[in-house]
Amino acid sequence: MKRIFGLETEYGLAYTQGESRRVGPEEIARYLFRPVVEWGRSSNVFLPNGARLYLDVGSHPEYATAECDRLPDLLAQDAAGDQIMVELLEQAQQALTADGIDGRAHLVKNNVDSAGNSYGSHENFLIRRSMDFSHLTTVLLPFLVTRQLLVGAGAIIPAKVTTELKPADSNRANPHAPARTPQLDPGLLQFGLSARSDVMWEGVSSATTRSRPIINARDEPHADAEKYRRLHVIVGDSSMSQTTTELKVGSAALVLDLIETGVPIEDLSLRNPIRDIRRVARDLTGRTELELASGRTMTALELLGIYLRRAQKLVAKGDHSLGDDATAARVIDRWQRMLTAVDTGDFAPVAAEIDWVIKRRLFDRYIARGDIELSDPRIARLDFAYHDLTPQTSIFKQFEAKGAAARAVTAEAVEQARRRPPSTTRAHLRGQFVAAAQGAGKDYTVDWVHLRLNDQLQRAIVLKDPFSAAHEQAEKLIAGLDGEPAAFDV
Ligand code: ATP
Ligand code: MG
Ligand code: MG
Repeated sequence: MKRIFGLETEYGLAYTQGESRRVGPEEIARYLFRPVVEWGRSSNVFLPNGARLYLDVGSHPEYATAECDRLPDLLAQDAAGDQIMVELLEQAQQALTADGIDGRAHLVKNNVDSAGNSYGSHENFLIRRSMDFSHLTTVLLPFLVTRQLLVGAGAIIPAKVTTELKPADSNRANPHAPARTPQLDPGLLQFGLSARSDVMWEGVSSATTRSRPIINARDEPHADAEKYRRLHVIVGDSSMSQTTTELKVGSAALVLDLIETGVPIEDLSLRNPIRDIRRVARDLTGRTELELASGRTMTALELLGIYLRRAQKLVAKGDHSLGDDATAARVIDRWQRMLTAVDTGDFAPVAAEIDWVIKRRLFDRYIARGDIELSDPRIARLDFAYHDLTPQTSIFKQFEAKGAAARAVTAEAVEQARRRPPSTTRAHLRGQFVAAAQGAGKDYTVDWVHLRLNDQLQRAIVLKDPFSAAHEQAEKLIAGLDGEPAAFDV
């Protein structure tokens, strides 16, 4: 079975003060995007590796990976995004220094900023139009509500569940404006699985302007709309850990595979998913009883176990969309080990693989050493440093370097993905076209579906099939562009 995957990541920017004047995140974003604008004459570009790099209003630069049809490709493309952002950061730091600014700019891959604004990660999965969307979301929702137990980023959150709060951002005009989390009571904090759970107000909805749904039902397939639909999942945390990303996307894809292959699966709908996503976030033992619509109760551990056993069978038959059996086996194995770890309380077997586990250990040690509380500002700083990608200050990158955090992609694969699109999807054509048009110095326009040269002929190519890396007209258009294909080098 084949599926297209894409990951969007919004990064955070921050500045640590030196002697010179203060620099806000928006100004850092402008420094960061200088080479992008110079290269592509816009702060919204597609790169030779097929990805989209852009800066919306505000100061959360975003990288959206090229379409991948194998999970390993997605991990490489996603890690390449981190690397590109770090290269841009280093160049921005040099430019800041040259302008006499002596503080340090930081790039973070986190999910909440210091003001409590939530942002982070969108997962995109291609699904068939023939699927009953409402059945699909019914099966998927309980999984997404509980998935944080497997792959949450870990967060300091108010200990009290705050479902009574109405969305503070219910009439936001701008869908991209970050939602507000409930006010923190500094006296009543706890370590939770994910901070994102508190900003989810609906299960499935296309109205992101009104409330933030777990599944965004906006129907923008970026493909032949008669055949395909793009499922847009916005509940997940951005992951620092590559192995966490692998389990996060891999497990969700396997659940979609279950649904699409028609494996019968009992109705596990939750009576109140919005209350329960908050309760699950606060229970590191996975044992809170959740009320199902059917009237039964079930814990997150039990729910995730049911999905796992079904997925296991599918993988045993080779009937999955992850790209290769070894990857699928790894996802199943990590899923299993994580459930066992939660069940037994022995996290040693997953200690290097899951963000919230790695982060909690870091916090616990720090708290024990310093005899401080969770509400101590030093813990908030440690949390920030965990998500920091700035090479000089990143805790996570140190963990990776010394093996305390496992990798799922090789440095070579990341380096290749930094320059080249996946070879098996239409991103292959887009990447080649962008590189060739740049090299030839031509004016062009590109989006997920179109390639166009802005000359008198206005030749536009429509790539409706994301699975196809071949297209005669597109190949002709690319071949007709003379000049050395140009890379995107910062
Ligand atoms: P927004 O940024 O407002 O959420 P958007 O969801 O359209 O808009 P983009 O930032 O443009 O997002 O990213 C689109 C993502 O969807 C990319 O990662 C891309 O690889 C992926 N994608 C493109 N076409 C498909 C498809 N047909 N099926 C699944 N994923 C797709
Ligand atoms: Mg986006
Ligand atoms: Mg999106």
